[in-house]
Amino acid sequence: MTDLARLVGDIAREMADLPERGEVATYIPPLAAIDPGRFGLCVVTADGAIHLAGDALEPFSIQSISKVFALTQALGKVGEALWSRVGREPSGTPFNSIVQLEREQGIPRNPFINAGALVVADINLAGHAPRVAIGELLRFVRHLADDESIVIDEIVARAEQATGFRNIALANYMKAFGTIRHAPELTLGVYFHQCAIAMSCRQLAMAGRFLMHGGLHAPGGARIVPARRARRINALMLTCGHYDASGDFAFRVGLPGKSGVGGGILAIAPGKASIAVWSPGLNASGNSQLGTLALERLADATGWSVFAEA
Ligand code: GLU
Repeated sequence: MTDLARLVGDIAREMADLPERGEVATYIPPLAAIDPGRFGLCVVTADGAIHLAGDALEPFSIQSISKVFALTQALGKVGEALWSRVGREPSGTPFNSIVQLEREQGIPRNPFINAGALVVADINLAGHAPRVAIGELLRFVRHLADDESIVIDEIVARAEQATGFRNIALANYMKAFGTIRHAPELTLGVYFHQCAIAMSCRQLAMAGRFLMHGGLHAPGGARIVPARRARRINALMLTCGHYDASGDFAFRVGLPGKSGVGGGILAIAPGKASIAVWSPGLNASGNSQLGTLALERLADATGWSVFAEA
């Protein structure tokens, strides 16, 4: 067994025994029913080795991690023009906050807060019916993960459609500024369905490989995005991927990462690894409590922090 395989197993064992696991998200009703005792970890290294531990093959709701794939898709469609409709600064506010939008003329701070992700969904919707736009994103994610079995959990999508009043408010508010161009319910439909994509840690870590390989699907493989775009997406994940706890995540883990309220985190060690972790209990900022701790352990033991000496 390699050192890394042993480390991944050790981290999963340590996490399994910890009693303080955070709180599962309850504002999306189906997520409230998930067992907080679950824990999965998958590390895919640059040479293609895959290390799995715990519930790494169990699909969960990726929620805001989908914002990474949706942003990549939108940049492919409109390129740099995207930045006239969404900023790229950390917000310092919770994921679903509306407060900055009035002062900043309806332009969300970044594509990873809900307001920014709604604008990205609106860009992906252009020229399509919502069903086609979401189908395109699902195909993209399946391609990135090399896995045709990835699906959308319709129960989660419908629950958010029925209860996502903050997101409904954000979309309508931005429609008033013209940042959202379609009927808000259509843009919201795309957004809720992308958040309801279900993936396992293994599928997520595989889908993140292009961000470890400078935009390539695999070494010597097809180009998914230009190298500069991969660097920039990683930069946004580092600075904005954990909402108002992004600074703390950079401090503790030191890797580009994107969390979701389903308890998943995708983290990238550029040139080294694509990592996905899942533990449904969240901390006060809405990020996976044990997922963050597990990544902290992994980054400490491997020296993969982007701030470490080479
Ligand atoms: N679908 C969730 C929402 O819009 C995503 C939030 C998250 O994962 O941080 O509230």
